[in-house]
Amino acid sequence: MAEKVVIIGSGPAGWTAAIYCARANLNPVVYEGAITEDNRIKGTLPLGQLALTTEVENFPGFPSGKLFEFLGSALPAERQPYWVQDKAPQPGHGITGPELMDLMRQQAVNFGTRIITDDITHVDFSKKPFKLHTLEGHVTEAMAVIIATGARANYLGLPSEDKFKNRGVSACAVCDGALPRFRNKPLVVVGGGDSAVEEASYLSKFASVVYLVHRRDKLRASKIMQDRALSNPKIKPCWNSAVDEVLGNDKDGVTGVRLKNLVDGTVQELASSGMFCAIGHTPNTDFLKGQLELDEKGYILWKKAARTWTSVEGVFAAGDVADNYYRQAITAAGSGCMSALDAERWLAEHGEL
Ligand code: NAP
Repeated sequence: MAEKVVIIGSGPAGWTAAIYCARANLNPVVYEGAITEDNRIKGTLPLGQLALTTEVENFPGFPSGKLFEFLGSALPAERQPYWVQDKAPQPGHGITGPELMDLMRQQAVNFGTRIITDDITHVDFSKKPFKLHTLEGHVTEAMAVIIATGARANYLGLPSEDKFKNRGVSACAVCDGALPRFRNKPLVVVGGGDSAVEEASYLSKFASVVYLVHRRDKLRASKIMQDRALSNPKIKPCWNSAVDEVLGNDKDGVTGVRLKNLVDGTVQELASSGMFCAIGHTPNTDFLKGQLELDEKGYILWKKAARTWTSVEGVFAAGDVADNYYRQAITAAGSGCMSALDAERWLAEHGEL
């Protein structure tokens, strides 16, 4: 028998949709993604982008303080953070990205959500019930589908960059920029779009200097944001340049980058405690090609303002997979809630409840 609602994706949008669907007795199934080497390399393992970050200080409800007892009782033993299991001193943070995702996942489970650790590789939305095909070769049918597969940050693809992810290499200044390791230190931002200049401006509040490394001699960012960044005395542009290696060691993480000048081929080393990639995102929509209307970058298009409706009736989209602008955990969670309410109403209107 077809499921009432299947949710694809396991970041804040997916879990929030699951919590709302479960509480509405829709008996949701979440495909949280497969644990594969391919997903690890792409940054698309279960629990999404937040599972790849460190501290989360801007998700409301998690101020720094005593979370020890709360987390100790809220999560099953095997998903508890090491410092709960070991009774180690609690870190001074509010919550980390992985902890936040485990708590959301557990909240969805507590209300009866079923979870399948597998990828959806292709879909057939041409007729109802919709058909969803998995990596392991199963087919699931659903009356309504919520897509919350997110978008992955683009990285340069250097092995040295991979080695220092979370130890100085980041793709989110707003998430990580205020960490002690970056304060009053030189930092590198790679990219020339609005995200890069925004991240450089943001980081200039903490860093001693921010090197803005761009592969051309002109920024792509909007004029006003360029002007703001280029008139900031702490931001130093490095034109026509590319990072060809991230430098560092096991103890300190990132200690610098090696830059190559793309015009004359010269190479120089810059001391830096961090490298922030702001070279765009890729939405995780490959499995939807030809089935749903996407924009030119592959993001799912919402077909009505302030609704999570996609181009196919009964298919809804939430979180970063339909948002290349805000990209915050809290906005993803908010649209996850919207998608669940939209799905519930749609199922009710079509006599499927
Ligand atoms: P973007 O506009 O696509 O810019 C990506 C930048 O990364 C470009 O400068 C590009 O260089 C560079 N890049 C791409 N691949 C690279 C590689 N492999 N190596 C080195 N550099 C590489 O992406 P975005 O800045 O994330 O912005 C996405 C959208 O969100 C845009 O529409 C933007 O306007 C919007 N946004 C708006 C705001 C705001 O208004 N406050 C803030 C952030 C984002 P080239 O220039 O040479 O192509």
